[in-house]
Amino acid sequence: MNATGKDRLWDKEVDVIVVGFGAAGGISAITAHDAGAKVLLIEKMPHPGGISILSGGGVAFAHNAAGAFQYLKRTCNGTTADDILRTMAEEMVGMIDWVTELAKVSGTEPTKTETRGHGTYPFPGTNDIDSIKLKDFQAYADFPWAKGLRGGARLFKVVWDNVHQRKIEVMLSTPAKELITSPDGEIIGLAAEHDGKSLRIKARKGVILACGGYENDDAMKLQYFEAQPVYPVYLGNTGDGVKMAQKAGAGLWHMWHFHGGYGFSTRLLGEWVREKQIMSLENAVRRLTFDSASALGLYDRGLLRPGMAADIVIFDPETVKPMPESIVHDFPANGWRVKEPAAGIIATIVNGQVLLEDGKHTGALPGKVLRNTYYHAHNA
Ligand SMILES: Cc1cc2nc3c(=O)[nH]c(=O)nc-3n(C[C@H](O)[C@H](O)[C@H](O)COP(=O)(O)OP(=O)(O)OC[C@H]3O[C@@H](n4cnc5c(N)ncnc54)[C@H](O)[C@@H]3O)c2cc1C
Repeated sequence: MNATGKDRLWDKEVDVIVVGFGAAGGISAITAHDAGAKVLLIEKMPHPGGISILSGGGVAFAHNAAGAFQYLKRTCNGTTADDILRTMAEEMVGMIDWVTELAKVSGTEPTKTETRGHGTYPFPGTNDIDSIKLKDFQAYADFPWAKGLRGGARLFKVVWDNVHQRKIEVMLSTPAKELITSPDGEIIGLAAEHDGKSLRIKARKGVILACGGYENDDAMKLQYFEAQPVYPVYLGNTGDGVKMAQKAGAGLWHMWHFHGGYGFSTRLLGEWVREKQIMSLENAVRRLTFDSASALGLYDRGLLRPGMAADIVIFDPETVKPMPESIVHDFPANGWRVKEPAAGIIATIVNGQVLLEDGKHTGALPGKVLRNTYYHAHNA
């Protein structure tokens, strides 16, 4: 859409429009506001939070910029320009102070216990990278619609409180549809929808697209992900920002990257099958077993039949559900992981031996490293 003569006048005018009220959108709105801009934050769904509110809420920071730059350069592996990585590394050094300041508005602070101590990968500079979470302050009570990891709700509550404290205008149930450009291609506004009506909003200084990824758009997943299938964690993310930016001439990077969900199996069986009834129990079980094993190239698992490995989970469909997660440091070198126990799982049998019964480890260690058919074909 362009702003030539026939188009009607603007319905609204601000300095900066931020599209998407997840963590990226909320933080962008706060930053633009604090730099003196009049900001409008629009969100397509009836609730804010995006996938951010469901996440672990770990905030990465750096002990020193030089090490962080080295680490980021290795993880990006040549896909991102050095000046961008250097700016990011420098900003990561000030991250804790900034989060501490924002967290005061919600009456909380970063915790000293839930830190990781290093980056995710053992690359050069990993010890200069770290990650913190906010102290638990029951933030999720304010967000009954969000049933994810609780760290994300803590972080999002701080973002939400800061947006409201600054009186930044927020419009929910307002999907952005298209960027509006001037005849010479400059982005000057946005077309959106609200209450069934179209809305033309002028942006004097810019439009920030913080619309998340495309985990709920099947055609994009097929096109950009090598791994299939990838199931959505959050339904609002249908790649709208990518499509709008592409239409305005933007290039694409990092389209292959996604972060999977935790507690997927128990949440699928408890919430999506039992409570919301979006699919049959049989279909869900097939997704968790045969579909997953086949996608990974493990052809002797995923079905109960003669000749297959006896890997069996016995659960109660009436009670199965994920329990609150915690961080445990039980990996080598004190490495951490998220532990999310389950309720309603009666027994877990691996290779024909009972491994867990009523949540307790029997002492058996029947597991072994599995290699898929690709590995066997290339390492015969
Ligand atoms: C289980 C899990 C745990 C994770 N843990 C961590 C962690 O500990 N630390 C970490 O750094 N990262 C973590 N991640 C990754 C992190 O959550 C995401 O990278 C981050 O939340 C993305 O934020 P966002 O604001 O870009 O997207 P989102 O939070 O998804 O926000 C995008 C918003 O845009 C809205 N939107 C979409 N289209 C439109 C449109 N057309 N108009 C208006 N609004 C629109 C969506 O509805 C949504 O609200 C985790 C991810 C998962 C799945």
